[in-house]
Amino acid sequence: GQKERLQKVIANSGVTSRRKAEAMIEAGRVKVNNQVVTELGTKVSKQDSVAVDDVVIEKEQPVYYVINKPRQTLSSVEDDKGRQVVTDLLSADIEQRLYPVGRLDYDTTGVLLLTNDGELTNKLIHPKYGVDKVYVAKVKGIMDKNDVTQLKKGVTNDGERLKAVKARLVEVDKRKGSSKVELVLHQGKNRQVKRMFESLGYQVEKLRRERFGSLTLGKLQPGEYRELTPHEVKQLA
Ligand code: URA
Repeated sequence: GQKERLQKVIANSGVTSRRKAEAMIEAGRVKVNNQVVTELGTKVSKQDSVAVDDVVIEKEQPVYYVINKPRQTLSSVEDDKGRQVVTDLLSADIEQRLYPVGRLDYDTTGVLLLTNDGELTNKLIHPKYGVDKVYVAKVKGIMDKNDVTQLKKGVTNDGERLKAVKARLVEVDKRKGSSKVELVLHQGKNRQVKRMFESLGYQVEKLRRERFGSLTLGKLQPGEYRELTPHEVKQLA
């Protein structure tokens, strides 16, 4: 799982501020797995037991947000090239460190779950669970029924078998020479939708994820987010 700095874990648990947590560590009041730790940079995982004055602290409470990821934003927590990342869009009032569940491409918009719940994350991205991922792709060119059938039968790209569990031609604009297709995937391979269309000779111009499991966009505009209700969290797991 994710490792975090000891002072942060203590501060996030609500025991005290990060500053004071650092002082507590230096004063030898903090134990990790029953051993006194005075090193400030020490990293701990969810499995580690952290105690202040021999009282084990409660872990950071899990939180869940859904964001409509805008274009030109990375679905990561930092970028060495200084591009906007999805967590840049969150209010500074959110104290927890959130991570995206899975990935959307830089130019893809739509549903992205953000959470600090590593256990749920692992479950949702594991192929075994096959969470529904619904995409709407606008592609260049006039697609036909055969193309859509092919998306469901599966295509081979870079030695990988890629298939949609459902695919539906939503719209064909003969004048503009473009088509819109809705796909449901259970797989979640890198650039999967784009690669599937590329295999059939089409280029994706716009891609939006409409649904991830039970989570839909609702009224969220690109860049907007909201916290999930406890009921929605239950539905996800
Ligand atoms: N498939 C893609 O090609 N890109 C995404 O961002 C998501 C699915």
